[in-house]
Amino acid sequence: MSFSLYIHIPWCHSKCPYCDFNSHAAAVWPEDEYVRALIAEMERRAEEPAWAGKSLRTIFFGGGTPSLFEPRSIGRILEAAQGRFGFEREIEITLEANPGTVDAIKLGGMRAAGINRISFGAQSFNPAILKFLGRIHSAEETRQAARAARHAGFERLNLDIIFAVPGQTVADVRNDIAEVVALGPDHISAYNLTFEEGTAFFTEMNRGRITPLPNDDQATMYALVREELPRHGFPMYEISNYAQRGHEARHNLTYWRGESYLGIGAGAHSFGREGVGGRRWWNERMPARYIGVALSGGLAEVGAETVDAEVAAGEFVFLNLRLSEGFALEVFEERFGRSFEAIFGARSATLFDAQLLLRERGRIRLSDRGLELADLVFAEFV
Ligand code: SF4
Repeated sequence: MSFSLYIHIPWCHSKCPYCDFNSHAAAVWPEDEYVRALIAEMERRAEEPAWAGKSLRTIFFGGGTPSLFEPRSIGRILEAAQGRFGFEREIEITLEANPGTVDAIKLGGMRAAGINRISFGAQSFNPAILKFLGRIHSAEETRQAARAARHAGFERLNLDIIFAVPGQTVADVRNDIAEVVALGPDHISAYNLTFEEGTAFFTEMNRGRITPLPNDDQATMYALVREELPRHGFPMYEISNYAQRGHEARHNLTYWRGESYLGIGAGAHSFGREGVGGRRWWNERMPARYIGVALSGGLAEVGAETVDAEVAAGEFVFLNLRLSEGFALEVFEERFGRSFEAIFGARSATLFDAQLLLRERGRIRLSDRGLELADLVFAEFV
């Protein structure tokens, strides 16, 4: 029995205008206090039946910008996690990093602290687009960071890119793909830019100062990414993720397969499977309040909901449909005690008729067309 641990580091040098994560711009941050707060939360959670006696199969440091922290701090957190839960032998431990915040020494320190997979937010190699996205790093810093990560001994390296940025052309996307592949990662995430409520871009869009690219252009770029990355040895395995065979992100697979994960830190979300349903909860978002509660021995949980069997079944379907392989009908039935047909037969009929969903060899997955209209398909299962 094992589970995944997510650790949220909530600070960034500055706030990118498209970002809706729980990230706070800061020049200094209470690193030592925050580390102590994370360890205190871990200690409390380790006593809960959902996690007690289970070991960790993946850990993911996300943010924010976890690479702002010193390797010593990351090492302290990992030591505590190993002590409280224990690690599986092949544990995957990922750190998200901003290329503008690392050098060879820091990367060497992170590797020595126990990080074995690093994920850089490259986003683009076009200086104008990086500037538009509010990124603090240059294309050259991404190249240097990727090379330094390899020298530091990271065999697993992810690079994120973003497409459908206003002003971006199909040729720009093609160039970003060539650049990212040339850096020799084993995993690439390619995200379609979205305008999320609460972000600066969302406000600018509503004021008419930014116009998203037409849907057709966005679809053309997505099609290009889906065609080009596999051609370079990175088959698509999830809507936005591409990896060399066997190098898929095991941590994220936990989310897409609807398995249990514990999130610690400011604003972190968790999900614990219980029978056919489960429980979801989330923490206080503000770092100072999170630290205050955690260091006084409390849990900074500010909300929770019970996920009943029907909701859990819907979530299982739309999360697993994100994966190119979809899911096996047998696994669904084993988990929920009823067949997919019995629960979703009527609701899904039109999706099969429209060939957005495919049923093949005992599995259900999205078709190519379904991939383009994924949100529409998922809405049927929410
Ligand atoms: S660096 Fe990442 S987490 Fe921080 S503001 Fe930018 S997109 Fe958000």
